[in-house]
Amino acid sequence: MSDSLPTLLEIARTAGERASKICRAVLDGTPLSLEKGDKSPVTLADYGCQAVILREVAAAFPDHTIVAEEGSEHLKETAGDAGAKQIVELVSDNLGEEVNFDQVCAWIDHQGTGNSEYTWSIDPIDGTKGFLRREQYAVAIGIMKNNVPYAGVLACPNLPVDLNQPDGPRGVLYVAAKGQGTTRVPLDGGEATPVHTNAKADAAACRVLGSVESAHGDPSLIISMMEEAGIEGGFVRYDSQAKYGILAEGNAEIYVRPRSRPDYRENIWDHAAGVIVAEEAGGKVTDLDGKPLDFTLGNTLKENRGVLATASAEIHNFVVKGLQLAEAKN
Ligand code: AMP
Ligand code: MG
Repeated sequence: MSDSLPTLLEIARTAGERASKICRAVLDGTPLSLEKGDKSPVTLADYGCQAVILREVAAAFPDHTIVAEEGSEHLKETAGDAGAKQIVELVSDNLGEEVNFDQVCAWIDHQGTGNSEYTWSIDPIDGTKGFLRREQYAVAIGIMKNNVPYAGVLACPNLPVDLNQPDGPRGVLYVAAKGQGTTRVPLDGGEATPVHTNAKADAAACRVLGSVESAHGDPSLIISMMEEAGIEGGFVRYDSQAKYGILAEGNAEIYVRPRSRPDYRENIWDHAAGVIVAEEAGGKVTDLDGKPLDFTLGNTLKENRGVLATASAEIHNFVVKGLQLAEAKN
């Protein structure tokens, strides 16, 4: 299949929509949490999502490199016969065809021949803890060209279509590509509309986003930065890259992700899709020092200290200064 941008986006979107259906199907029951070696949770939905996403990508672009969060080894070790049966059913129902466990595992482990300038950086369920709490989570499908974020689809199946109406319909899909802007479309159908960051906000009005999980960052540093920079619009905590979408559509102006500990390095799949969604909507994304994110160094952002996304270059400047003042006080 051709590597043209419309084709890349079509495949990413189909993959994101399929994965969203897996997530919702699993949440209709009681998701079983399996613990990984690093103690982070994973569910059959994580594996099911990765399988259906990579099935699409492998069929369309067999050469493209894949960097995805999960691998089938842990699934094989922990799922048991009942788990294996469950995931086969989940994927078969999603695809409308009978598949077997080996096929599901092969899709999960698909890596591509590597003979391409494109790398897909995929988090099948970003914010698994939010997913298990039935709060926010995202299917994050980032496409990098020569290791620079180039296009992305971010599906947020539980995000209110209108954030001000949490009791209204939920499910939002963000689609972005270099030079093409960012659009958002209700996941269950509706019009695609371009979105833009709220670039004109002054410091006092800025709203700040951070992780629900305090262990994924340093909320006290964020609060101290807000005091230093005179930011009074509030600090709202959501799980997952949904934060990038919320920033892109102008429902907050700042997303700060301080390093949770000195040796923590951000995974590229936790940012590749979100970064292009935020940037193409007019946002600016760097690390906490204002340094560009470097996606060329493997699976992590090795040379970056945390992540900072803002609605504009101007907002970026005063947040970086606020962070410096807050860190000097620590
Ligand atoms: P969030 O929902 O924004 O808190 O981000 C979820 C992501 O945080 C997960 O996909 C993990 O890869 C990542 N994560 C796990 N542990 C840490 C940590 N100690 N510091 C920062 N991020 C983490
Ligand atoms: Mg993640």
